[in-house]
Amino acid sequence: AAKATGRDRVAVFEESMYADAVAEAETRAELERAVENDEFVVNYQPIVDLPSGRLIGVEALVRWQHPTRGLLGPNEFIAHTERTGLIVPIGARVLRVACSQVAAWHREIPAADRIRVSINLSARQFQEPGLLDTVREVLHDTGIAPERVVLEITESLLMHDVDATVVTLNELRAMGVRIAIDDFGTGYSSLSYLRRFPIDILKIDKAFIDGITANAEDATLAEAVVGLGRALRLQTVAEGIEHADQKSILSDLGCTYGQGYLFARPGTADEITVMVREAYE
Ligand code: C2E
Ligand code: MG
Ligand code: MG
Ligand code: MG
Repeated sequence: AAKATGRDRVAVFEESMYADAVAEAETRAELERAVENDEFVVNYQPIVDLPSGRLIGVEALVRWQHPTRGLLGPNEFIAHTERTGLIVPIGARVLRVACSQVAAWHREIPAADRIRVSINLSARQFQEPGLLDTVREVLHDTGIAPERVVLEITESLLMHDVDATVVTLNELRAMGVRIAIDDFGTGYSSLSYLRRFPIDILKIDKAFIDGITANAEDATLAEAVVGLGRALRLQTVAEGIEHADQKSILSDLGCTYGQGYLFARPGTADEITVMVREAYE
């Protein structure tokens, strides 16, 4: 092909920007329709006690039941919903669905009344002034015990606006819900700040768990996070455990809980109900 002139290159560039803008607008319209039609479903992944493997809670993970493309995972749409703000209604829906599901387990399987549910909050949701009212309403409407609800936020969110974050976290804590830091170790939280936040749980990022058996540095970092959790009296959850040797190293380190394909993949409410019954009936 002929070498593109400067002018042609500009034209190609503009054309691709135009295509991007069209694709973005189409996705946005589709997501708006999906919110209206309630196309989002919540899957649940067990969180287990280490080393026993007993199910102690679940993490709610959103999926989009797309009318033509099938079931889509969060990596295919969450970033877009954060940019457009649609994560706010979608996230509120996930919170409500997950809390009512777990409240139903509490009612129907009395021995399982301590099972907790973790819900991911993105920065956009956390910064929304309506968050506290949403959480309060969902707790009230579903009747779930607040201490069974864990809100997962990321490290980068904590560091974004420390003073405002502390205020919001204290208000959530005052309602009785628990706070977890998700993907811990991948952000840049300073240890001195960490003490200022009213948090309950550190979730050690899968990246460290992946390398824990083969890579001495990852093993040392995982050990450091478990030690930090112990020093700050926080529970620790290791995410992405896929192999039995990872599980035994983590439980030897004193990591409280684990989550990963070794124990169970995320499943539908019905699939996880079977596991809850097996563990508690
Ligand atoms: P996350 O909160 O760190 O969730 C854990 C992710 O790791 C989930 O992916 C889960 O399926 C996956 N996972 C768990 N165990 C294993 C394992 O052993 N091996 C591997 N390879 N993966 C494992 P998923 O469901 O695709 O979610 C991805 C991310 O999307 C979540 O990461 C979270 O940041 C976000 N997300 C999911 N649901 C929601 C939601 O309702 N609201 C918001 N704001 N974000 C959500
Ligand atoms: Mg999470
Ligand atoms: Mg995580
Ligand atoms: Mg993660």
